[in-house]
Order: sequence, then C-alpha cells, then structure tokens
Amino acid sequence: MGRLADIMAQHHGIDIDGDQEGLLMKDLHAIMKINETMNLTRILSEEGGIVLHLEDSLTGLPFVEKAPDGAYADLGTGGGFPGMPLCIMTRRPTLLVDSVQKKVRALQGVAQELGLEDKVDVYAGRIEDLGRERAGEFSVLTARALSALGSLMELASPLLRRGGILLCYKAQPSEEEVACALGIQEMVGMTLKERRDFSLSDGSTRCMFVFEKTSKPRVKLPRRVGLAQKDPLHP
Ligand code: SAH
Repeated sequence: MGRLADIMAQHHGIDIDGDQEGLLMKDLHAIMKINETMNLTRILSEEGGIVLHLEDSLTGLPFVEKAPDGAYADLGTGGGFPGMPLCIMTRRPTLLVDSVQKKVRALQGVAQELGLEDKVDVYAGRIEDLGRERAGEFSVLTARALSALGSLMELASPLLRRGGILLCYKAQPSEEEVACALGIQEMVGMTLKERRDFSLSDGSTRCMFVFEKTSKPRVKLPRRVGLAQKDPLHP
C-alpha cells in the first residue's frame, strides 16, 4: 500500500486499490509536470500534493457515491481537483469545467494519459453558459476554491436535476457566509442536507457542505454572466 492509500484508509475509512492509487499518483505527477510551464497550482511538493490535492479531493467520494446515478461536473476545476480524482474512483461520466481554455486543454491531455478519455469531457467556458446549454442534466456537482457558498448554490442550481447534489469543499467558512447560504435556499431551489467538519491527515480543518436541488428557483437563473460571483444574492 502506498502513502495515499494508507492516508485514505487511516484517516477517512476509504479504500483505494493498487490500480486506483497508481492512476491517482499519475494524475498528480502529470499536473505537477504541466505546472512547470502553466500556473495550475501553488503546491509544489509531491507530499503537499498527496495531501492537499488527492486526499482533499477524495474526501468527497462518499457523498458522490451516494448521489443519484448520472453525469458529474466539477465547476471551476483548475488543475482538475477534485474532478479528476473523483472520476478515477467513481468512473462517472465527468465534465471538467473552467473558463480558462488552456487549463482545460491540458486536462484533456491528462485524461488521455490516464486512459480516461471515454469518461472525461472538458468544457472551456463560464459555468453560467453551461447552465443554459445543459440545464438540468447533472446528478452531482463539486466545487473547490471557487466562490462563496451562496454563489456556488446559484451557479449549480440550473445545472442540477431535481434530487441532484452540489458538494462544496470549504476550508473554514465564516458564519456570515453560511447564514447567507441558508437564507437564499428557496430563492435558488437548493436545500442544505448535510454539513461535515473534519480534518486532513496534516491536521488542517475542512468543511463539506452538501446541497440538494429540491425545487424550482424563485429567481430566474442563470442570471447575467458574472453576477453570481460579483453581486451574490442575499436573503
Ligand atoms: N478547483 C480547483 C481550482 C480552483 S481556482 C482547485 O481546488 O484546485 C478556481 C478556478 O475556477 C479557476 O481555474 C478559474 O478559472 C475558474 N472559474 C472561476 N469562475 C468561473 C466561472 N464562472 N466559470 C468557469 N470557471 C470559473
């Protein structure tokens, strides 16, 4: 068993087999290599990448496994986290979404290297535009290091089918951010189902928020491109 599988078993009760661990490490190495010429991540050491990219990404796995069957998209995927590791583990049809074209092109290359080209698609564009083009098509969405909870709920709502879930990876959300998210639930048709506070193996604290698409939004979504993040809805 390698270092990653050991961490996942010891700290999160998640089993990773040898093939999966091999692919996960290959993904990390490919991203670190690309990072030499393109700014995808500030984490430069392998050990840092194992914890802050792979371990962190995989903490969402139990929630993705519980979500209804169907398509998965990682919003604001950057270097493909948590999207690529979650695809490696679940084999769901996965869409990696980012507005920066050269990032998604690089990720397409990585997916090919990993033999995941029939599972991974990429979308180079704004989440709001995807929300118009593929409304209601997704069963599960993730977002890490993208925006405040309220903005994520608003961006996710048009993409999700009823009963679909949005997983928000957070380090330490402020009480204000959480209160705001709870206050706009009906406006965006999303309901908080679960909040889990936990730590990574290096002791850093994390918080996972699970929202479900429960009803039709009361405001017309998506709003004009940019507004969800620049001028968030508030209660
Ligand atoms: N999820 C990754 C990257 C986070 S950085 C990680 O956790 O490591 C946020 C990324 O989201 C950036 O790559 C940025 O280009 C992208 N992004 C921000 N707003 C977006 C939007 N509205 N539509 C699409 N991509 C967006």
